[in-house]
Amino acid sequence: RRKPVRPKRVLVKLSGEALAGPQGSGLDGATLTALAADIAKASHEGVEIAIVVGGGNFFRGLQGLTKGLDRPSADSIGMLGTVMNALALEHAIESAGAPARAMSAVPMPSLCESYARRRALDHLSNGKVVILGGGTGNPYFTTDTGAALRAAELDCEQLLKATQVDGVYTADPKTDPSATRYESLTHAEAIRKDLKVMDTAAFALARDAGLTIVVFSIAEAGALAAVLRGEGRATYVTP
Ligand code: UDP
Repeated sequence: RRKPVRPKRVLVKLSGEALAGPQGSGLDGATLTALAADIAKASHEGVEIAIVVGGGNFFRGLQGLTKGLDRPSADSIGMLGTVMNALALEHAIESAGAPARAMSAVPMPSLCESYARRRALDHLSNGKVVILGGGTGNPYFTTDTGAALRAAELDCEQLLKATQVDGVYTADPKTDPSATRYESLTHAEAIRKDLKVMDTAAFALARDAGLTIVVFSIAEAGALAAVLRGEGRATYVTP
């Protein structure tokens, strides 16, 4: 069994749905408050935390295609959604008692700071939770890729992928009752077994950068702080 060694700096990927609550879209106040409390707790326990937030609770680029938009325009709207989530998280985390700073990959200086690697590193070493909106700042990418990119360039020890299930399974546990959870596996095994840990581009980047990906469930209160303590259920995908 692995030793619970607390990482110094991590990147957490939160999908937009993690902020949406039971209705599945937009922002849910109670969900946001619970999530922010969990993040503030983990921050107070001494882990430097960067967050890349998705935007699926507002808009996904692929949805826009069905409305007749072209991909770059649709993805621009998607990126704006992720910045809305970053601003909501910034306020919620500060309200929960931890200093936080939203940064956008797409400059919009009257709303929040623009992303710059050195500045983000400064905020992290000063104990601020850094919330990264705008994904990579480019169309044709996802916030999963943004998460792998920022985790690599910000020297994060782990990329924590928050999902609705508590790890990577042999099959979909919602449809296959015989599915079992992996405690750990390597990047190569994940590819060989065709296990969907993150989207293909994001996973390739994470693997090339030698990042450990931790897949865990954000559904229970306190889940993030527990996983960072080495407690709680998760799958560790390692080089
Ligand atoms: N997006 C983009 N470039 C990026 C990240 C995101 O264009 O680097 C757009 C894309 O349209 C995507 C949307 O923003 O569908 C929302 O992000 P994502 O789907 O990753 O959110 P999640 O599923 O994690 O909530």
